[in-house]
Amino acid sequence: MSDALLPILIVPDALLRRKARPVAAADADTVRDLAPRMLASMYAAPGIGLAAPQVGELLRLVVVDLGKDETERAPMVLVNPEIVARSAETAIREEGCLSLPGQYADVERPARVKIRWRELDGTKRETEADGLLATCLQHELDHLDGVLFVDHISPLKRNMLLRKLAKEQKLKARD
Ligand SMILES: [Zn+2]
Repeated sequence: MSDALLPILIVPDALLRRKARPVAAADADTVRDLAPRMLASMYAAPGIGLAAPQVGELLRLVVVDLGKDETERAPMVLVNPEIVARSAETAIREEGCLSLPGQYADVERPARVKIRWRELDGTKRETEADGLLATCLQHELDHLDGVLFVDHISPLKRNMLLRKLAKEQKLKARD
């Protein structure tokens, strides 16, 4: 076990497009080690959500924290999360992603979702989310199926944003 921060994969890393597999009983130790490191890496980035595929682990594991700041952390660790209901009503919110640094776009999604998951100790949980939490959970759960927020915007906007990202990453690599 290491305390080092996990490197976050950047688009177009192929792992970001793979479907993650469910966490099984045999993964318990891996997930217990991984979840706190994912939270630490997310805080350091900084970000409000991170999915295991973003750190190269193809497991259905997500961490989220919508706490106000470092004095008021509110970490959520979601093992095998699934959306079990979506509202017909939608909401548009600007999204960004640690795997597409510096890129933002308005994304339309269901305004409210009901989500089921297990905690690290196996406890079953269910919640109805709205507002930022609903957006954030849908964004992170998408990562478990290899879906990125840019898949929800027009092809024209997506291509613009991906080109901009590629250009910026190239400049960064040159530094
Ligand atoms: Zn993301």
